[in-house]
Amino acid sequence: MQVKDISRTKSAELYEKAKTFFPGGVNSPVRAFKSVYGTPLFIQKGNGSHIWDADGNEFIDFCGSWGPLILGHNHPAVREKVTEVMQNGMSFGAPTALENELAELILTNNKFIEKIRFVSSGTEAVMSAIRLARGYTKRDKILKFEGCYHGHTDALLVKAGSGLITFGETSSAGVPKSFADETIVIALNDKDALQKAFAEFKDQIAAIIIEPIPANNGLLLQEQDFLQFLRDQCSQNGTMLIFDEVISGFRVGFEGAAGLYGIQPDIITYGKIIGGGMPVGAYGASAAIMDNISPVGPVYQAGTLSGNPVAMGAGIAQLTELLKPGFYQELESKTTAFVSAIQQYVADKGYTLKIFQLGSIFWFAFTGQEHIRRADEIDAASMAYFKIFHRELLNRGVYLGPSGYEVGFISSAHTMDDLEKTKLAIFDSLDIVY
Ligand code: PLP
Repeated sequence: MQVKDISRTKSAELYEKAKTFFPGGVNSPVRAFKSVYGTPLFIQKGNGSHIWDADGNEFIDFCGSWGPLILGHNHPAVREKVTEVMQNGMSFGAPTALENELAELILTNNKFIEKIRFVSSGTEAVMSAIRLARGYTKRDKILKFEGCYHGHTDALLVKAGSGLITFGETSSAGVPKSFADETIVIALNDKDALQKAFAEFKDQIAAIIIEPIPANNGLLLQEQDFLQFLRDQCSQNGTMLIFDEVISGFRVGFEGAAGLYGIQPDIITYGKIIGGGMPVGAYGASAAIMDNISPVGPVYQAGTLSGNPVAMGAGIAQLTELLKPGFYQELESKTTAFVSAIQQYVADKGYTLKIFQLGSIFWFAFTGQEHIRRADEIDAASMAYFKIFHRELLNRGVYLGPSGYEVGFISSAHTMDDLEKTKLAIFDSLDIVY
């Protein structure tokens, strides 16, 4: 059934004004709605699983600020803790007990790291982890996988998923060739390519970095066997294995993908959920590895707002909720039921859609393949389906990230009623797409 387009009058006005201030009117590229219909929606408020835009349109939100909001918007525990901490001031640039509290919460519940360092974004966490790996191994090269995004640090902006493909690029201008030359890029799930890289660059590769649950170029789920192969190859070659868990950390379980697959990386990076919606990133490893960072060791890394008390407060409140018994089981079973019902509808109708899911992460793949484990296995033409799907869902009060390469997230705030309404909106939208 066709429905009316939502009104975007106020959003369009705000966007016109924003374009005079910011390149493309935004402070992060995918927000510009370049690969979907209409002007970007300017969001005014969020509560639980719902958001409202400047025109008063209400949506059930499956973007969740791109992953951090595992408890939904404006969760009372997070809001109260942030409000309490703010009474004492915003930032000191000196140690506070709140940093200890968040670190202790993480380290006593995550056996994969012994020490941690807080920074202010996922990008910073990855950049610092790479520097640590290079400093520790005294090697320069790093190996990454096509389709994995690790933030906008120079050497990692090569074949890096959604943001770049959305704008038709595989790499970024402004990255010196000499930097990119230190980055080896191979396809995911390709053991031969990995062995060849180790043979060609013997004793030169400081680190392999991977999103163990690649979620920035669709959801390219890897087999445990491939991740274990990476672990073994790294150990044999004196190369560090970095799990970039900026999305998967605290999302697929408190111990993230390392815990899920039972694989010990050398360094793990975090972001998003760890800060409860505030700008926090972190990297962690064994004490022996972490003690190479300044002021103990020679690898320099610092930050004016690192460990910011208000942000730490948000992280403490959010992670405390995640540790409550049954939290992840409930989130996963809710997501599985939601995805299965849609998959059933799709099967009944004979549509070529496959929904990939892990825990509370899901991705609509309009190509219909049973498995997609590599970026080059995605049929770019299928993004045309997503574009219509996205518009139809917005018109029916459901908000997905504005790119077909982006995954969706379910939060603990999504109610059965929300998911029921969303399913019906998805069924109607699919009928229009196909
Ligand atoms: N690593 C991964 C896996 C990410 O998904 C992202 C952001 O989406 C980053 C790193 C960069 O994090 P941030 O955007 O906080 O800099």
